[in-house]
Amino acid sequence: MNELPRLDFAHLPTPVEMLPNLSAALGGPELFVKRDDQTGLGLGGNKTRKLEYLLADARLAGADTVITAGADQSNHCRQTAAAAARTGFHCVLVLYPPAAFAGQAEHIRTHPSGNLLLDHLFGAEVIWTEPEERDRVLAQTFEHLQSAGQKPYLIPYGGSNKIGAAAYAYALRELRQQQVSPDWVVVASSSGGTQAGLVLGARSLGFQGKILGISVDESAGVLQERVAWLANETAAHLGEELVLQPGEILVRDKYSRSGYGVVTPAEREALALFARTEGLLLDPVYTARAAAGLVDLIRQDFFEPSQTVLFWHTGGTPALFAERYQE
Ligand SMILES: *Cc1c(COP(=O)(O)O)cnc(C)c1O
Repeated sequence: MNELPRLDFAHLPTPVEMLPNLSAALGGPELFVKRDDQTGLGLGGNKTRKLEYLLADARLAGADTVITAGADQSNHCRQTAAAAARTGFHCVLVLYPPAAFAGQAEHIRTHPSGNLLLDHLFGAEVIWTEPEERDRVLAQTFEHLQSAGQKPYLIPYGGSNKIGAAAYAYALRELRQQQVSPDWVVVASSSGGTQAGLVLGARSLGFQGKILGISVDESAGVLQERVAWLANETAAHLGEELVLQPGEILVRDKYSRSGYGVVTPAEREALALFARTEGLLLDPVYTARAAAGLVDLIRQDFFEPSQTVLFWHTGGTPALFAERYQE
């Protein structure tokens, strides 16, 4: 794999830990966790890895401002704001309440909590919109910045393009260097860059384990297409001659049906189980959903008892402190 230009601000390698109490509580396979909730900058998470490469590209492009979009509790936006502060970019965030919370838009704006509170603390400029208007407002804001004489750089939704996804191909290499070879890697998947990078890294390095994405908000078919497309774009960018088909991308979408950001009893159970057996914090939107999927799969005997399973923790814990999740 070619090495892309990188700014160095993540705490890497992130630790791999065993989860013996959780394994015992579930009577399941041996469980590990890869602590990408501990990437260091601004409370960490998976987007920090991507941003090391995206902001390097922004700097090479001569940008002075980065702009991206997400939900009001977006971890991606919070990590972008922190990384921009650290590396000297002005940061503009286009935010919206997710569909399930549209009725609370005014309250959310005027009572920032969780990730949104941190966006403000990191000095990001926030522009509010609605989910359907996201791409239009993003493009419009980009043009406004340009005509105001700034040099904006657009970071895609979730940091998921061939540059951001490359960070997760390198992350799979990092896991290999830690001498860990799980039979399964289970990871929350949404904009697809994380899973695409892991799948690409696995294929290019001959890693035998399977990468299983737990969809947070999309149907399996849509996510498989997106991940395969992104993995192929990233492969070409890194000079790897390989092609992945959507059918080779492993996705479970059974747990995404309640909608983005909606906490159900399954997420609550997973949050409490991880906290009480291992002192490990999940986030209500992404990793609790993925962990609920993992727990469900273990209960269905999806994994062989002799197999090892690594839960790739993608972060998000500041959302635990969002006002809407307090009950
Ligand atoms: C963004 C995010 C994900 C999903 O990663 P993608 O690369 O968008 O698929 C998973 N977990 C957390 C905590 C996230 O913030």
